[in-house]
Amino acid sequence: MALPRDIGELAALVAHADRILPVGAQSSLTGGATPRGEVVISTRALNQVALHANTITAGAGVALVDLQRTLLSHGLYYPPVPTFDGAFVGGTMATNAAGAATFKYGSTRQWVEAITVVLADGSVLRLQRGEVTASEDGWFEIAGPGGRLARVPVPSYRMPDVPKLSAGYFARPGMDLVDLFVGSEGTLGVVAEATLRVIPAPRRAVALVASQSDAQAIAVTHALRDEAARRWRGDGPLDVAAIEYIDAMALVQLPDEAFTRAGLPRPTAGSGMLLVQIEVTGDESRALERFAHVLESCGCAGDPVVAAPGDDRAAARLFELREAVPSAVNARVAAAKAAIHPDIQKTAGDMIVPFDRMAECLALYRDNFERRGLTYAIWGHLSDGNLHPNVIPASLDDVERGREALLDIAKGVIAMGGSPLAEHGVGRSALKQQMLRELYGEAGLDAMRAVKRSLDPSWKLSPGVLFPTKAG
Ligand SMILES: Cc1cc2nc3c(=O)[nH]c(=O)nc-3n(C[C@H](O)[C@H](O)[C@H](O)COP(=O)(O)OP(=O)(O)OC[C@H]3O[C@@H](n4cnc5c(N)ncnc54)[C@H](O)[C@@H]3O)c2cc1C
Repeated sequence: MALPRDIGELAALVAHADRILPVGAQSSLTGGATPRGEVVISTRALNQVALHANTITAGAGVALVDLQRTLLSHGLYYPPVPTFDGAFVGGTMATNAAGAATFKYGSTRQWVEAITVVLADGSVLRLQRGEVTASEDGWFEIAGPGGRLARVPVPSYRMPDVPKLSAGYFARPGMDLVDLFVGSEGTLGVVAEATLRVIPAPRRAVALVASQSDAQAIAVTHALRDEAARRWRGDGPLDVAAIEYIDAMALVQLPDEAFTRAGLPRPTAGSGMLLVQIEVTGDESRALERFAHVLESCGCAGDPVVAAPGDDRAAARLFELREAVPSAVNARVAAAKAAIHPDIQKTAGDMIVPFDRMAECLALYRDNFERRGLTYAIWGHLSDGNLHPNVIPASLDDVERGREALLDIAKGVIAMGGSPLAEHGVGRSALKQQMLRELYGEAGLDAMRAVKRSLDPSWKLSPGVLFPTKAG
């Protein structure tokens, strides 16, 4: 593994290698950061940060948890953080990462002011947002070393209108060149550093609410989204940044200690839970009163468990409960792999639909899994319309039927105006690459390959990520 210490070393490595795979924290859930014979370039040592008035410039190897620590010591915050905050800045640029609070803050893309990218020939491109935009007839022109000009076509496919999208190359008439690199999963260039917008750190309360059904969880989320939208218009006291859902089957996976640690009893059978992040300014009592009123009007039984603003330990206990869910499901998959069949794998989706299609979408998940006799659990970022349906396989056959179900679900999600690829990217997963094909068709993939060819003619960068080969 190569470990460049600065942009010059990185550029020299890229220029001289035949095939490379840049990696960050390797937390990818799509196989995108798993090498297949390439020179692996770790960005770990590109870890400088420089704080400016409203932005921070960070090397690709800075972990978000460290970025936030630096920012917090100045009362600042970087909002579009994925749930896994050990991810590196470069990895989050490459995947257009997003997290629970996308509903309020958007995904990584909206926070990138400038980006430095090393191209396949080793040239270094420093881009400030607003500096280079696509021509009216849909091209970028990029001057390389020695005046070589790359003409990069902007694909003409239409992207779904959803708040988070990590599904191949961003494409829009008149788009900014920064946006072509954000979300390109290392296939167009290696991100060396980025300048990110930051905001004053919000104060937040965290609340855990029991919900008796999917319908109730959606009704509460709907009402809280409306309250937040009112607040952003300057009306009303309740500002909500994120609402996450853990369905009943996901809660069943948790051991009793997970609830004990969070300070609440195990919910009754059939109940799910919502984890709500409420942002407060000044006295939080009006916001929390309004929150209680919303829960009551949606028929929620019992009081929520609330971590007050500033009580970081109580908030951490509630977040730990949420984190325990993927850990428990992944442990079940690993146990089945060890005991039943070595090819058993995590079989999960990362789908998003416009929020008003959420009830239909949840029904689509359940129907597809249940008619195939599969055990499954669902959790994720309900306020964004982005959930993670996970099969809990008891055999290799379950994995195969789970993949078939996910592909059918992907088609349904696309028909609803959503995307089967929301925040984790496409990577080298055959299933996700098939979903990308469903989303944009073979013509869309050809348009992406044309972009790739224009910037990386020898197919050196991350071959096999996003789409299989240079052919086609
Ligand atoms: C428990 C868990 C929870 C997660 N939750 C979320 C979530 O809420 N939201 C979300 O968006 N994701 C989530 N993820 C997925 C993952 O954390 C994100 O995709 C993250 O952005 C990857 O960052 P990384 O540094 O680990 O990148 P890696 O996994 O190392 O790489 C990811 C991809 O980016 C490319 N890449 C990495 N660095 C660079 C670079 N400098 N230049 C060019 N390409 C590069 C790699 O080649 C690879 O294709 C989660 C993962 C886990 C394990």
